[in-house]
This record gives sequence, structure tokens and C-alpha cells, in this order.
Amino acid sequence: MTESHEAIVIGGGPAGLTAGIYLMRAGIDTLLIEKIISGGTPLNSWNIENYPGFPDSISGKDLMDRFTAHAKNTGLSIKEFSEVEDVSYQNQRFIIKTTDALYESIGLIIATGTEPAKMNIPGENEYAGRGISYCATCDGAFFRNLVVAVIGGGDAAIEEGLSLANIAKKVYVIHRRHALRAQKILQERAFKNDRMEFLWNKIPIKIGGKDQVEYITIEDTKTKEQTDISTDGVFVYIGARPNTAFLGNLIDRDEAGFIITDEALSTKTSGLYIAGDVRKKTLRQISTAVGDGALAAVNLERYILGQK
Ligand SMILES: Cc1cc2nc3c(=O)[nH]c(=O)nc-3n(C[C@H](O)[C@H](O)[C@H](O)COP(=O)(O)OP(=O)(O)OC[C@H]3O[C@@H](n4cnc5c(N)ncnc54)[C@H](O)[C@@H]3O)c2cc1C
Repeated sequence: MTESHEAIVIGGGPAGLTAGIYLMRAGIDTLLIEKIISGGTPLNSWNIENYPGFPDSISGKDLMDRFTAHAKNTGLSIKEFSEVEDVSYQNQRFIIKTTDALYESIGLIIATGTEPAKMNIPGENEYAGRGISYCATCDGAFFRNLVVAVIGGGDAAIEEGLSLANIAKKVYVIHRRHALRAQKILQERAFKNDRMEFLWNKIPIKIGGKDQVEYITIEDTKTKEQTDISTDGVFVYIGARPNTAFLGNLIDRDEAGFIITDEALSTKTSGLYIAGDVRKKTLRQISTAVGDGALAAVNLERYILGQK
């Protein structure tokens, strides 16, 4: 049987939950579908310092629990542990197929965020879960008093490197450039931290070991010289890949796969709006995801009212 709603939101991170709050407050019958649990990527962030309203910072989990409680207070139905596998558009209705059900809606908001990009080097798949991780908050505790390497030089790499430096005895930061891209305040903290060592102009080439990660081979981008660095863990923060595979040709993507929208966050398919990290934009943060969620919801509300 197909369950019918006026609006469906796919993805329960900051963008999707905000969209759900705005739609419910506008009186639109809305269902939010989430692959894992409500909260999204920030659930894995140990500390959020730049979301306004929390001057003493807040953990990602506490922040997102508040988003979820707020969304549930509006009456929003949240279907967790349900992954959307396919979306089609027929007779001005969206048909959404998940792992366990079929839904239909007049309008749809995609807020499925991103997955961590992989290094695609020998050993990466082999040692996944055996020393290679994409989430310091989830796995950092396994590396107490051990040595870890963080790959990347942006906000995520430095934030997570700093959190690892509270646990591990040594944190190598391996970055392909000669300077970090992370916010200045994070850079200052990292440079002051004597457990962090920066390996500039280096790229990862190979991960090796016996049962667990024991070393990472890095290459100097200029001299091409290769060096093995002994490490117990490798944490990878080299960017993100948007989750759009289930959308087929309903949308246009840029060369990196992010969804292209207009200023109203709409797409070439009527009634299909995009919010948050999954869309082509210049700043991927909780605050911008929240702004997208609100805007996509208000524009979808107008579309749905026009259809009724
Ligand atoms: C390590 C790290 C640290 C960060 N630190 C900060 C910070 O300090 N401050 C800040 O503002 N931002 C930070 N960010 C960025 C922030 O997490 C994102 O900008 C924000 O979460 C984007 O929200 P979103 O709702 O677009 O996507 P997400 O939060 O990624 O949520 C997307 C949701 O969609 C679900 N989903 C995906 N595919 C499907 C599917 N097929 N079916 C159903 N559900 C699906 C996912 O399970 C997920 O719950 C950090 C990011 C990382 C990786």
C-alpha cells in the first residue's frame, strides 16, 4: 500500500528537520524519512562552537536532540532507519521507494547531505574499521595514548584533529598544501597544541600493517619522496560526496555531483526542492543548512497550495 502525504522530506539533519518544522507550522501534512536516526552529520561532532545561540558551545548530539524535539513538537512524523532507494515523478506526484515502504507526495525536499570522500588508495578498504575512520567522535576513544594521522586541512580535519589530541599521544596532520584552509581560530589552537605535528605538501599513498593499521606511506607533492609514518589510526577528512544516487535524472548536478538549484532552491522538476549540504553552494555549515531548510519549505508550501 502507498502512504500519501502532502510533503515528504528526505534526510533528518539540520536542513531536513528545519524544513519539517516550517512545513508543519504552515499546516502542510509532512513526513520526514531518515536512513539512520534523526540528527544528521552533527551527531558525530563533539563540539559545535559556531552555531549562534550557544555561547559556551554545545555538543552536536545535544544540539541535534533539540532540533529533533522541536520538530516532533510540531507534530512532524519522522520515519527512522528507512533509506530512500528510488524517487520517480508521475502525474504530478512523487513516488518514493524506501527499503521497506512506498510513499506518494505532492512535493519533496531533498536534504540528504554528504558522505565522507575516500582517499582511494591501497589499504583504505582493507583496514576500514581496523584503524581507518571517518569519525573521530565515534572512534577516537579507541586510540587513547596511541598515534593517529589526520588527513586534510579544512575545518573538519582540524576540529577533529584537536579532539583527537585530547585522547591520542600524537596526532600527525597530513595535508597536501603548505597552509591550512581551516578557520583561523582552529589553526591557532592546532599550532599551539604540542601533540599535533604538521606534515605539509604530503599526500597519502598507501596504508599498511598486519591485522590493524601500522603505517601510512606519504609522498611529498614536490620532491615525490615517499616516507612511511608509523601510526595506529588514520582519520580521513578530505571532503564530501553528495547523496543523490536515488534521484536519477530528476535533478541537474555539478561536476562534483552536488545538486544545482535556483535561488528558490527549486530544480527542473516541479515541486522538488533541495536544502543543505547536498546542494551546490559555497558554505556547508549547520547555519546555512538551517537557512536552506526554511527557504525550501516556504517555497514548497507555496507550490503545494497552488496545486490544491
Ligand atoms: C567532522 C565535521 C565537523 C563539522 N563541524 C561543524 C561545526 O562545528 N559547525 C557547523 O556549523 N558545521 C559543521 N559541520 C558541517 C555540518 O555537519 C553540515 O553542514 C550539516 O550537517 C549539513 O546538514 P544537512 O542537513 O544538509 O546534512 P546532514 O547533517 O548530513 O544530514 C543528512 C541526513 O540525510 C540522511 N540520508 C542520506 N541519504 C539518505 C537516504 N537515501 N534516505 C534517507 N536518509 C538519507 C543521512 O543519514 C543524514 O541523517 C561539520 C561536518 C563534519 C563532517
